[in-house]
Amino acid sequence: MFVQQNRTALDIDELSLQVAGRVAVTVAEGPYRRFAVWVQGCTLACPGCCNPEMWSSTGGQQVAVSELVAEVEQARVEHQIEGVTVLGGEPCEQLPAVTKFVHAIKSRGLGVIVFSGYRHSEIVSHTGGRELLAAVDTLVDGRYVRDQPERGRRFIGSRNQTLHHRTPRYDEPSLWRGPAQVEVQISSTGTISVHGAPALTRQFLRRIRERS
Ligand code: SF4
Repeated sequence: MFVQQNRTALDIDELSLQVAGRVAVTVAEGPYRRFAVWVQGCTLACPGCCNPEMWSSTGGQQVAVSELVAEVEQARVEHQIEGVTVLGGEPCEQLPAVTKFVHAIKSRGLGVIVFSGYRHSEIVSHTGGRELLAAVDTLVDGRYVRDQPERGRRFIGSRNQTLHHRTPRYDEPSLWRGPAQVEVQISSTGTISVHGAPALTRQFLRRIRERS
């Protein structure tokens, strides 16, 4: 369910995103140090998805785009992030707010990577899709396919998914080459977040549950 762009509702102070989670800095969701935001809601229901708790559009937390941008600016100062990754959940199912967010990030000189279950051809054929991509340096597209696990490219879930470099920023192949990785973060309040390559993350969480 692709959400169409509403051109009358693009004020950064008014738009908000339904967010499943975010981390101020990670090295597991794209090259370099990145702020990452997982949006809430996805209707694609890929078998084997490692984030099924992000399928419902009503979960997570509503966050103003302006607030997210402020968090990114703070992360830039505190963690020297190089860019932002948007994943989910499905970024294209909150197209107006995600578009506004990534344009705000891009205008600040930071890099933008978006992971979408929709294919590039599906995105550009929808109203607002090209406007989203205009602020994206690299799009990783396509449904997650469980029986085609990616083995050679870091950050990417399955072999069918394609990198679309819209700028040279992340087009060096070595940035994407390497083994899958999982990152575990423990916040000062004791909250534990686990993220990274889908198959490995799922395997890691299963083992943790079996031992608890
Ligand atoms: S597109 Fe991503 S979040 Fe949505 S079901 Fe597929 S793997 Fe899960």
